[in-house]
Amino acid sequence: MCGIVGYIGSNNAVPILIEGLRRLEYRGYDSAGIAFYEDGNMVLKKTVGKLSNLESILREREYESHLGIGHTRWATHGRPTEVNSHPHCDCYGKLMVVHNGIIENYSLLKKVLISEGHIFRSQTDTEVIAHLIERYLNNGNLSEAVRRALCEVEGTYAIAVISSSNPDTIVAARKGSPLIIGRGDKEYIVASDVPAILNITKDAIFVNDNELVVIREDGTQITDLKSGGSREEKIYQIPWDPELAEKGGYAHFMLKEILEQPQAVRNTFSGRINLNKDKIHWEDLDFTVEELRKISRIYIVSCGTSWHASLVGKSMIEAFAKVPVEVDLASEFRYRMPLIDDNTLTIGITQSGETADTLGAIRKAKEEGSKILIICNVVGSTATREADGVIYTHAGPEIGVASTKAFTSQLVALYLFAGYLGRAKELISYSAFSRIMTELASIPKKIESILEKEEEIKRLADLFWEKRDYFFLGRGIVYPIALEGALKLKEISYLHAEGYAGGEMKHGPIALVDKDMVVVALVPHNSVYEKMLGNIEEVKARDANVIAIADEECEEIIEKVDHVFCVPKTSDFLSPILFAIPLQLFAYHIARNRGCDIDQPRNLAKSVTVE
Ligand code: GLU
Repeated sequence: MCGIVGYIGSNNAVPILIEGLRRLEYRGYDSAGIAFYEDGNMVLKKTVGKLSNLESILREREYESHLGIGHTRWATHGRPTEVNSHPHCDCYGKLMVVHNGIIENYSLLKKVLISEGHIFRSQTDTEVIAHLIERYLNNGNLSEAVRRALCEVEGTYAIAVISSSNPDTIVAARKGSPLIIGRGDKEYIVASDVPAILNITKDAIFVNDNELVVIREDGTQITDLKSGGSREEKIYQIPWDPELAEKGGYAHFMLKEILEQPQAVRNTFSGRINLNKDKIHWEDLDFTVEELRKISRIYIVSCGTSWHASLVGKSMIEAFAKVPVEVDLASEFRYRMPLIDDNTLTIGITQSGETADTLGAIRKAKEEGSKILIICNVVGSTATREADGVIYTHAGPEIGVASTKAFTSQLVALYLFAGYLGRAKELISYSAFSRIMTELASIPKKIESILEKEEEIKRLADLFWEKRDYFFLGRGIVYPIALEGALKLKEISYLHAEGYAGGEMKHGPIALVDKDMVVVALVPHNSVYEKMLGNIEEVKARDANVIAIADEECEEIIEKVDHVFCVPKTSDFLSPILFAIPLQLFAYHIARNRGCDIDQPRNLAKSVTVE
């Protein structure tokens, strides 16, 4: 899940590479390194730990270069040591490679290359790429050497390569890992993700799988890796402002992104559905009403937080459109036998559009004949290019590793889609649909009112942050939010937190409850409200500390629990959005009290581009 970057142009490459890496650091931070060409010499600087360590090393003097590559690592093969840090080089340090992905046949290739006399320094899979290119570079044609080398490797990669044999060229290629080229004015930046190019340009070229790109100051050439045939470049305009990818004075990206949610969810639904004259039309959905009518089964495939959004989506779609929905973890869906026919729709939900497991799952569904709809936050990303239809969440760049605004925007997208599908199938009336839309339009204000009470949540975090065990309980539509609340806390504070359906407690987990357990109970006033109160009694009787998140400050709840936090009332299907917000803030403040690295939690990386 590493981040790679490369720059060529008339500006100094070194600070540009560092800035690019800073914007990719969410992808991994085990080590960082850059290689660049300066006055006819190849310079390599790399070190373990965060980018700031690399920056300290670079302070030794001013470097001036017009071509270089960089890497921030999330180790898959070989410990996070200096020698395993990227860039990796050939035997003579003349050729440098950065890589995101996994080379599956590296041990075999390494043995052969060692027998041919190549000297390896690291334990990584990546280093074989450098030596393979070296093997083929005899005649000095870097792009051909890269092509031949890549024909021998199995696995996934996005790579950028520079060599002193071709000091005016970066060669990049991809198979299975994301790769984007930003086109500036006589300068190019190549990177794993969009935020890294925004300081230079908003013009992006998305490289496809099995493509190789030769990048020079005056232009790029994209060719097919195997056949060598070239293709036209399609330039995408990235709609994000560079400042959106900056912390803007906030202590953490996560906090900034939590606070951005009113705008993010507004962006998700604004201007999408035209409700005029009893006819509805979704401006940018690539499915016709006739196609939607035919859908008789839906799979939703996703991972992590997006999987929790999917579980909410299932209830919405089944209620509004009466289509049976199965929700699968993408990593499981890939290896089972789903029942797909011509009328099946598979929805992939992925913030980045690059999640390897979700890509694998939608490809499998497509092979079996399913139509594909992607709910995604990144314009032009791999998943969106492979889908039949896309709903962009338009939440703006999400940099914090723990997803917040992308999650609530996904819920909005699913809600819209569920309503639209129900309307397309004529299962809900025009007036019912307009009520759905009106309620949705009130959500940003309601989120704002929750955010205004951040201090209240902070006080709860101040009371409980030293506790080590947490249960999040919910039933019905907010059960997935209990899972999400627990995941947020795990991710950023490393505490033991589990999400359960309230009714499940008595089937096992309640054995863990004692006076040291914190139970966060989600209690919207809906059809399972009374049942949830019963579940609260059960844990209270076993001395748990109970915090209720409710949508009405009624006596009944206040009497039963230790603390109540109130969110505004909304319709049942929109309540997950409002209930998620206090849980994000709770996790954030607990992690902050515990001194954790909130934006870059240990062992995690944001965009999981390896399987
Ligand atoms: N396999 C490479 C390494 O461990 C790259 C890892 C990645 O992209 O996640 O260094």
